[in-house]
Amino acid sequence: MHYLSTRDTSIKLTAAQAIVQGLARDGGLFTPETLPEVSMDFISELCGLSYCDRAAKIMKLFLEEFSAEELDVFCREAYGAPAFDHPDTAPVYRLEEGLSFLELWHGPTSAFKDMALQMLPRLLTASMAKTGEKKEVCILVATSGDTGKAALEGFKDVEGTRILVFYPRDGVSDIQKLQMTTQEGKNVAVCAVEGDFDDTQSGVKTIFSDEKLRSELEKNGLLLSSANSINWGRLLPQIVYYFSAYCDLIVKGDIRQGEGINFCVPTGNFGNILAGYLARRMGLPVNKLICASNANRVLTDFFTEGKYDRNRKLYKTISPSMDILISSNLERLLFIASEYDDSMVSSLMSGLSEAGYYQISDALKEKLSQVFWGGCADDGEAMETIGRVFEKYGYLLDPHTAVAYNVYEKYKEKSDDRTHCVIVSTASPYKFCGSVLAALGHDIGGKDGLELFEHMKSVTGVEIPWRLKKLKDKASRFDRSVSKNDMKPVVVETLGISGR
Ligand SMILES: *Cc1c(COP(=O)(O)O)cnc(C)c1O
Repeated sequence: MHYLSTRDTSIKLTAAQAIVQGLARDGGLFTPETLPEVSMDFISELCGLSYCDRAAKIMKLFLEEFSAEELDVFCREAYGAPAFDHPDTAPVYRLEEGLSFLELWHGPTSAFKDMALQMLPRLLTASMAKTGEKKEVCILVATSGDTGKAALEGFKDVEGTRILVFYPRDGVSDIQKLQMTTQEGKNVAVCAVEGDFDDTQSGVKTIFSDEKLRSELEKNGLLLSSANSINWGRLLPQIVYYFSAYCDLIVKGDIRQGEGINFCVPTGNFGNILAGYLARRMGLPVNKLICASNANRVLTDFFTEGKYDRNRKLYKTISPSMDILISSNLERLLFIASEYDDSMVSSLMSGLSEAGYYQISDALKEKLSQVFWGGCADDGEAMETIGRVFEKYGYLLDPHTAVAYNVYEKYKEKSDDRTHCVIVSTASPYKFCGSVLAALGHDIGGKDGLELFEHMKSVTGVEIPWRLKKLKDKASRFDRSVSKNDMKPVVVETLGISGR
């Protein structure tokens, strides 16, 4: 199986090459040339397996150069104990008849990014070996919170890799900051940037496009790479939990074999929900994919009007991981849904970078609307939802998952669709204690982070994830903060290439 650039199908690589390269040279995203189709027998067989074994079987369909034994080991390390502290890895919680949550936050950092970032380092280092790449890979990350910590945990002490994470000093929550500044590992470094996420990200982009720095690094046997969700090695592991959730519903008797279900996904960069679309194309019985946005409703407008327009204000919300105006992985959806129309994708993407918007054809819009439904919920609605769901069911939502729940309710009201729905739950509420306690009507008196853990536990009775609880005993290792223009010297120093 080969992987094609979404902007030029004559660019064709193997899986290992695509994972090492990350982004195609023409700016396109590598996408499998055909999607493996699975039968109901295959799904039945998965039902009897653990999450690790389900993952190995599904990933093997896409990775010809990897042996089954190799993937078994990777999956056990990535998704077993101690990395994941739930025996089912990604458990399904049944709220009521017809409605479940797929909990993706039982990993090391309590957010769903772990599902991909516990696997990516293994796929990446193995891909480097398979393609004969001998350099050490240096992962450079700009994070708005969740990705940075999950990438640090994933790459920590992985041989042949180093990782340096930049985060905006004024743009992450207390807990997220503490998670990063106390990070352990021999090959990790973290640095704050004075500014917001845009400053941080544009600083990292400048470093990536610095040819002189790149060749300097190469002379020292180092290769610059990123851990963002455009890499196929990050997307592939996410397909697994859609299959796994379906199997769990069958095993528990909530659905019949072959019955269609819906998924509702809190969406930012479009990676998570795209994995659901790929699972559907492979033959998983999925009817609708409900795409939930916060006040940054660029995707809601896209699915309603067929126009993607980033020319708007970016709102800062209580669900910060969805505060995004360019959903990069949407490019892969356009490519696959148009049956690999690379010239169309390429012209839409130049429209996006030049004018900031593009419009798809009516035919394509119609095709997408058979699968996708877009909706949004603002902060007020998300807060109200957290309070109401806790009161009615005793189940505690984080602000991202609350957005999804609210949009699911809107969909149900508009459509009369009573298909079993799985809401994808992307973070532990303990990562966002301040907003969650406020939503439950508690006065938090200007406190944030660790100080609120015990308060939230006594109010809700929900256990604190043990790794978050341990943060208070950890020493800070990285307290450096630099201006946006001083990021390059940090890279040079951290990688130890100055004066060599
Ligand atoms: C990253 C993230 C999302 C958005 O996922 P995408 O794949 O970017 O659409 C939603 N919720 C949480 C908690 C996240 O960390």
